Amino acid sequence: MRQIGVLALQGDVDEHLAALTRAGVRGVAVKTQRQLDAVDALIIPGGESTTVMKLLRRFSLEQPIKDRVTSGMPIWGTCMGLIVIARDVADLDQPCLGLLDVTVRRNAFGRQNESATVDLPIAALGEPVFPAVFIRAPWIERIGPGVELLAERNGHGVMVRQGSVLGTSFHPELTQDDRVHRYFLHLLEKPGS
Ligand code: GLN
Repeated sequence: MRQIGVLALQGDVDEHLAALTRAGVRGVAVKTQRQLDAVDALIIPGGESTTVMKLLRRFSLEQPIKDRVTSGMPIWGTCMGLIVIARDVADLDQPCLGLLDVTVRRNAFGRQNESATVDLPIAALGEPVFPAVFIRAPWIERIGPGVELLAERNGHGVMVRQGSVLGTSFHPELTQDDRVHRYFLHLLEKPGS
């Protein structure tokens, strides 16, 4: 059975593991390179990007993740995870992983008290609209030539894909709707499509 890793340095790890179980695959927490080596794909959850970038370096996981993704491992970042995988981040004083050719702006949809669940049309998922949870969410303000825009909110990109690299500003793991998890899992079968 496929094993899908969830980076477990900080953030909403358990919610992703539960969503993976509902989607019919085995989710495993990843804290070490040995655990990373054993998974077929990796999810970086929501959390705090400044903290996680520091922890990735402290746990010597930054380069191993880059190497796995460069050799084809699918990766998906949700909210903080989107920031961590981006090439450029406005308002962040340290480099991120640079795996997704976008520029994101942290906290762009407002502070905690402006967090919201929004009915988001996502053509790739079909009907009905997706209940997208935004919590101090980033938006995507530049999209590189190889990046496909999958959803927008108020004219700003909130879901993109570049080959088998997926990014969402929102938190599908905080709903009972597993369609984005299933969409990510299909990237394991046909990354180029
Ligand atoms: N605002 C957080 C950050 O910049 C992300 C918030 C989230 O993941 N819900 O890291």
